[in-house]
Amino acid sequence: MEKVVALCKRRGLIFPGSEIYGGLANTWDYGPYGVLLKNNLKNNWWKTFVTSREDMVGLDSGILLNSTVWEASGHLGSFADPLMDCKKCKERVRGDKLIEEKFGVEAVAGKSFKEIGEIIAKEKLPCPKCGECDFTEAREFNLMFKTHQGVVEEESTPVYLRPETAQGIFINFKNVIQTCRKRVPFGIGQIGKAFRNEITPGNFTYRTREFEQMEIEYFVDPKDEKGNKKMFEEWKKQAMDWFKSLGVKEENLRFRDHDKDELSHYSSGTVDIEYKFPFGWGELMGLANRGQFDLTQHEEFSKEDLKYQDPQTNEKYLPAVIEPSFGVERSVLTVLLDAYDEDKVGEEERVVMRFSPKVAPIKLAILPLMKKEELQTVARKIFDELKEDFQVEYDESGAIGKRYRRQDEIGTPFAITIDYDSLDDDSVTWRDRDSTKQKRVKIADLYEILKKEVN
Ligand code: ATP
Repeated sequence: MEKVVALCKRRGLIFPGSEIYGGLANTWDYGPYGVLLKNNLKNNWWKTFVTSREDMVGLDSGILLNSTVWEASGHLGSFADPLMDCKKCKERVRGDKLIEEKFGVEAVAGKSFKEIGEIIAKEKLPCPKCGECDFTEAREFNLMFKTHQGVVEEESTPVYLRPETAQGIFINFKNVIQTCRKRVPFGIGQIGKAFRNEITPGNFTYRTREFEQMEIEYFVDPKDEKGNKKMFEEWKKQAMDWFKSLGVKEENLRFRDHDKDELSHYSSGTVDIEYKFPFGWGELMGLANRGQFDLTQHEEFSKEDLKYQDPQTNEKYLPAVIEPSFGVERSVLTVLLDAYDEDKVGEEERVVMRFSPKVAPIKLAILPLMKKEELQTVARKIFDELKEDFQVEYDESGAIGKRYRRQDEIGTPFAITIDYDSLDDDSVTWRDRDSTKQKRVKIADLYEILKKEVN
């Protein structure tokens, strides 16, 4: 992990947040290459799950919502973690995480705060900072960030930064069915920021307080149990296939079914896709059967009729929901960790990010062999032609070997060099990042070759 964190900083992928002011713990900023990677991933998700499907539509709802939304969703009441303080060194820990790290997630599933405290005392689980086992009782800590809307703080209404994007979808369900010709089963997808005041953020971008989610609420007929089971299995497969399509190695991915005790109050079945992070298997996305819980709650709290009317039978009902919920940062982190590799080119060691061309920040590096006008002119012309449709980078400074190394480290899958032969044969040398093999290709064919490779 340290190597990836260092490379991200060195090569402009991810920087520590607020760095010139001494930083702000567990915040990260995506640099010039990081933002390209992140956007490629989000765009790929949006295309795969929203725009290329007839049964899906998109949405972009607000971060600030009427606070009653969070009463209805249960977040104001139960979205809490067991917070404990070490009496010796004052370190603040999440009781459930202490147990989870030692005995696995099953050991805390369904345990009350009291039971969590008891397990920690019985097993003498040490404080991660000072090693003592002397904690305060587990207290409830709500994960939502609270702020105020209005000019005078004392008179203003409290509002919350959304802890998930899902509720923005549920509260717009009626708007969507009234404006789009969608019939159940159909889904609404959304990508956006979410905020959780996590007690123990960490592991680079794995757990942060500000992050982005890519969520789908897929509405189905609750009576069609058999069909919904099949649909759940389909979503399971599609979610896994998506990670594989980004080039993530199969052996580093797995499904993990939640135990009955572990399920959220609304869920009748949940499965996670986990990735083998350097610190152990961790959740990458979750797929939950939310049933009719959300729409029922919002109907009750808003007093609005949120029922869907089947156009064929005229029957009215509240759809049940299957929710695939992905994290942007965890997906990016997975792609980064999975792509990191070290190998040797001849005698020289190199670090290479083996990103799939689909998500690579830069698809092609355009490198005139020397800073000579004739070569620069040809290289610039190629750059101008390709830049409309592909993220390409022009780089003319430094030795060619050094320029290749730099591109290897930001994971650029292909590079071309323009040399004096190019002026005669209208060809360039095409270099493949992974094999480092080189071949001559015609300048006129570059567009088509790149199109094929990137898609
Ligand atoms: P965890 O158990 O790791 O706290 P969760 O089960 O609370 O995660 P969900 O509520 O299912 O997570 O959120 C869906 C997805 O959002 C997660 O699979 C993850 O990718 C992402 N996510 C959730 N919390 C965070 C966070 N604090 N930082 C980064 N990503 C997060």
